[in-house]
Amino acid sequence: MTSFTLNAVNIGTFPLGEADRIVVLFSAEKGLHRAVAKGARKPGSKMSGKSEPLNICKLLLAKGKSLDIITQCETLETFPGLRSNLARLTYALYFAELSQVFGADLSEDPQTYFERLSLAIAYMAESETLPILQCLEFEMSLLNLLGLLPELTFCVSCRDPLEERTISSFNFELGGVLCEACERRMRGQASRGFQVAENARSEAREGKLAAVMITPMVWQQLVLARSFGTAGHDLTNLETEARPGVSAQRFTRDEGDKQVHSRLTAAQRLILGYIEYKSGRRMRSLDVLGAVS
Ligand SMILES: [Zn+2]
Repeated sequence: MTSFTLNAVNIGTFPLGEADRIVVLFSAEKGLHRAVAKGARKPGSKMSGKSEPLNICKLLLAKGKSLDIITQCETLETFPGLRSNLARLTYALYFAELSQVFGADLSEDPQTYFERLSLAIAYMAESETLPILQCLEFEMSLLNLLGLLPELTFCVSCRDPLEERTISSFNFELGGVLCEACERRMRGQASRGFQVAENARSEAREGKLAAVMITPMVWQQLVLARSFGTAGHDLTNLETEARPGVSAQRFTRDEGDKQVHSRLTAAQRLILGYIEYKSGRRMRSLDVLGAVS
C-alpha cells in the first residue's frame, strides 16, 4: 500500500458510517484533500481529539481507492487560546469555512496558502488585535491569492482616481468601488436596486443586487485592510506595527472604540457580501456571533 505524508490544517469534518470521520484538510503539499480517520467517532479513540477542526497535524496517509486513510497523526498545534474565546474561535472556523469553499482554487500554490492560513489561525488565537480586523485582513489576503482583490483606488468603471468626495458604491459584479457619476449612470440604466449593506447579503447572492453604498470611513477601512492583508507581512511582527485606521483615534476612548467597531463591522460585512457573491455560497460560521445577519 502506498503511503505519503502531509502537513495540514484540519478545516472540517463529516461523519462517515458508524464510527469513522471524513477529515477535510488543507495541506502544504497537496492543498485541499479529504481523508478518512477510521474509528475517530468511537469513544476514547486516539484519532478523535487529533481530528478536531483547526488543528495542524503531520499525517501519514495510505492511498485508498476513493479516499485515503489516515494511518498516523502527529498533532503539531491545537491553539488552546481559541477554545476559551467564542469570538476568536468563530472567526478561525470562518477561515476554515473559506478554505473549504475556495480550497480547490487555492491548491495551485498550496504552500503559500497553508502558511497564510496557519499564521492567521495562530494570530487569531494569540494576538490582542481586534478579531474582526484580523478577519478583514485575512479576507483581503484570501481575495488577493484568488485574484479577486477589490479595486478601491480607481473607479471600477471609468478608471478615474477615487477620492472621499467621489466614491459612491461598491459593485459586487465589477469587483470594486464606483465613482458617483458612474453609479448614477449605471443606476439609470439598471433596474437593480441599490441598498445599504445591512440588508444586502442575501439579495446579492441571489443576483438581485449588484452594489451597496459605501461611506468614506468604510472605504478608508477597506483600503487599510487591503494594504495590511496583502503586504505579505510576517504576522508576528504586525503586532507592534502602527495601524493608522484603528490606533490613530481622534475621539475619546469609548467613542473611538464604538466608531472603530461600527466602521470595521460595516467594512467586514461588505467584504463578506462580496465573497458570498463571488462564491455563490452563504457563509454560515459568523452567524454564531449575531454580529452579521
Ligand atoms: Zn467612474
